[in-house]
Amino acid sequence: MLDWLIIGGGIHGVHLACVLLGKAGVAPERLRILDPHERLLARWETCTATTGMEFLRSTAVHHVALDPHDLWHYARRHGFGEHAFLGRYQRPALDLFCDHSRAQIAAAGLDRLHVRGRASGLHRTETGWAVESDQGCLAARRVLLAISVTEQPRWPAWAATLRAAGGPVWHLYEPGFQRDVLPHGAVLAVIGGGISAVQVALALAHNAPGRVTLLMRHPLRVTDFDSPPGWLGPKNLRGFLAEPNLERRRAMIAGARQPGSVPDDVARSLRRAEQQGLLQVRRDQVQRALLRSDGAVDLELTEGTLRVGGVLLATGFEQHRPGGPWLDAAIAAYDLPLAPCGYPRVDRALRWAPGLYVTGALAELELGPAARNIAGARHAGERLAIAAAL
Ligand SMILES: Cc1cc2nc3c(=O)[nH]c(=O)nc-3n(C[C@H](O)[C@H](O)[C@H](O)COP(=O)(O)OP(=O)(O)OC[C@H]3O[C@@H](n4cnc5c(N)ncnc54)[C@H](O)[C@@H]3O)c2cc1C
Repeated sequence: MLDWLIIGGGIHGVHLACVLLGKAGVAPERLRILDPHERLLARWETCTATTGMEFLRSTAVHHVALDPHDLWHYARRHGFGEHAFLGRYQRPALDLFCDHSRAQIAAAGLDRLHVRGRASGLHRTETGWAVESDQGCLAARRVLLAISVTEQPRWPAWAATLRAAGGPVWHLYEPGFQRDVLPHGAVLAVIGGGISAVQVALALAHNAPGRVTLLMRHPLRVTDFDSPPGWLGPKNLRGFLAEPNLERRRAMIAGARQPGSVPDDVARSLRRAEQQGLLQVRRDQVQRALLRSDGAVDLELTEGTLRVGGVLLATGFEQHRPGGPWLDAAIAAYDLPLAPCGYPRVDRALRWAPGLYVTGALAELELGPAARNIAGARHAGERLAIAAAL
């Protein structure tokens, strides 16, 4: 039997494995990470590569290693120049961040602990939990759910209808999407107003100048982060944690999040590209999409129509609780406590039930608006290190 089974080998699963091994003294042979991809962090690498982003939005102290300064040391040791960090928040370059993450995985031997499979059932046993998967049943004293919303891309109804009719529409985060599946030489519409939409529109426009329209519902919102930095520490979290009512905590999270926003450097790149005629930005929204007999699509907007050869959605993720039927079944079977919004009600140690822990989106009613981010993984690590030592 394992001491710990982590379900999900993304940023959260990897960082928390580092914490359990490096801080809480868990023996490697007693820990496994269950994740369906060919390698750990694959989902992160795919999502970030397809957007075309060059720098993270978060700061240099947010990464998967234990020491907050590790990324700086790594950059210096491996000859990444001064251009590897951007701006006053020292946002790391994506290639540096990914190299460093790979090095951490290798140093901690995490690849050897990766079980390539997908959890499909969760059952309580006398000594802990049993997790069903396509690799058989895995038994552990403690299970950590490190799954996230990145497997639930948001499809507006008109786009789902267009896809069902065989229309040329893709979601940036649908499984297997790569930018080169988009029709070559066609006029493209990118739908979305957040950082991913802007970044992918810029990347596409550099390859197809003048043929990309970024369609956004609202004017560009410029903020450094996707929630104010006060939420990374006690300044805002103290009041959040003092609030016992989870509906009010949910409202605090919603009020703090700044979805559909971009940092200043990305906003400037967009304005520059627009001025240079590389792309158009249109403030409107799709009411209906009509698939024409020649394969093109007429996007009916509030004001006018846009004819395109392909549509790329950068509309983010569905916000409902991640997991799906197998987790829903465990919630019903073991009466796992939920807040009115459907998310887990957990204790300070991020424990949902004896031996069952959560991080990321599933822990946001305890960790606040940054729970899903890399900073959230680090906060979860502080809480879990204490729990694991007990
Ligand atoms: C393009 C992009 C850029 C981002 N940039 C930043 C940034 O700069 N800074 C920042 O702080 N945050 C950023 N984020 C937000 C966040 O940090 C990432 O989404 C991050 O990947 C979240 O890590 P995670 O481990 O929770 O989820 P993921 O990386 O999605 O990993 C979860 C893993 O769980 C697996 N899984 C799901 N269900 C099961 C199952 N049943 N059994 C086994 N495994 C399962 C998934 O396949 C996946 O591999 C960004 C997000 C995106 C999409």
